[in-house]
Amino acid sequence: MAKMHVKKGDKVVVLSGKDKGKEGTILRAKPAEGKVVVEGVAIAKKAVRPNAQNQQGGIVEQEAAIDASNVMVVCPKCGKPTRVGHGVDDKGKKVRVCKKCGAQF
Ligand SMILES: [Zn+2]
Repeated sequence: MAKMHVKKGDKVVVLSGKDKGKEGTILRAKPAEGKVVVEGVAIAKKAVRPNAQNQQGGIVEQEAAIDASNVMVVCPKCGKPTRVGHGVDDKGKKVRVCKKCGAQF
């Protein structure tokens, strides 16, 4: 299983494909597949059967999973797409480190 550099809740920018350059938040991470679902990215139309939330059924637009290697983390501090390093904060907790500004997050 590939270790992913991103996780749920991360803000990321898309590096390739039709949504190249779009930014969004990771809604779901699927480490087993190496994929992520990013808010507003790779929208696909999907047919749904009627259910409790949607009694009519029909077509809904939903984000499809994309390859995690196609996204880059946007640093919450400097706001730039960045590679992340790994470090440990002063409490011994594992943190990720922005390679651009050095912020831990
Ligand atoms: Zn930064």
